[in-house]
Amino acid sequence: MANIWYIQVNRYCNNQCHFCSNPSNWKNITYERWIELLDDFKKKNYAWVIFTGWEPTLSPDLPKWIEYSKKLWLWNRIISNWMKCSDYEYTKKLADSWLELVHFSVYSCYEKVHDFLTDTPWSWKKLMMSITNALKCWVRVQINTVINHYNEKHLDKTVKFLVKTFPPIHHFIWNNLDPEMMRKTNIAKSTLPDYDAFKPSLNRAMEFLESSWRSFRAEKVPLCYIRWFEWCSTETRKIVKDEERIIHFLDFREKIHETDFEHEKLEECKKCDLNWICSWIYEHKKFYNYVKVYPQKITRQEKENIITKIKSEF
Ligand code: SF4
Repeated sequence: MANIWYIQVNRYCNNQCHFCSNPSNWKNITYERWIELLDDFKKKNYAWVIFTGWEPTLSPDLPKWIEYSKKLWLWNRIISNWMKCSDYEYTKKLADSWLELVHFSVYSCYEKVHDFLTDTPWSWKKLMMSITNALKCWVRVQINTVINHYNEKHLDKTVKFLVKTFPPIHHFIWNNLDPEMMRKTNIAKSTLPDYDAFKPSLNRAMEFLESSWRSFRAEKVPLCYIRWFEWCSTETRKIVKDEERIIHFLDFREKIHETDFEHEKLEECKKCDLNWICSWIYEHKKFYNYVKVYPQKITRQEKENIITKIKSEF
């Protein structure tokens, strides 16, 4: 089982994304607490530790933490905006401390759209430089894209642009927007995606990646919006593989141990053959009450194929 442990290392950032789900409170995890968590993690047989935050690269202890996780023989990865890695020397320092895998948050192939969403001028240019530096240092790179109103119709173009510009990148993740903790401004609210609008471009992006032998995952996307790619849903994979994840927050939530990935569904979902592996949407009534569902019919063979594909992959 690929159980994953997320640890927030700080809660401040050098971007100001309108839809950020972890707003700043200026907290830092202490070095001692980090070591304590990693030791515990090792005992509990988790596969990956993920350094997250607002922005882990703003923590001066990051290289030390990476080194310590390697001493314990743990796999580590960082989810980051990576602005700091536009500095080659900094990227090299992380690579030398045995950083294995980084997730870059790229919202769009269009510089203007990305900079608008991060609310930070030049962030797209720096990000492109950072990806170049990471690849030069032989760090494995994956791409995270938050699906939102401003990129919902060109998710496929963004993927094609990245594959063409950075051919070594082989894995892409789309995270549907989580509005629970985002800013309460009108601009932030305007980023909520239209599910029927993102469906065609998301499916085109998946078809393209599949045809070029690349892998991908989609998080918080109901299965009727990714028909034929159900196996790539993060939640579906966790349901089928009976996995769990632990998240350590630097706020009132403190620690969340997730073992149940299904959310309260709509009446129509009862008629759907994918109901048993679909997680639907978190906080549907509060934020996403405009989203429609499309109950599906699948054959027994299709059902078996989904399970087999999920179980055969890491
Ligand atoms: S109809 Fe409901 S259960 Fe079926 S795929 Fe859509 S959201 Fe999931």
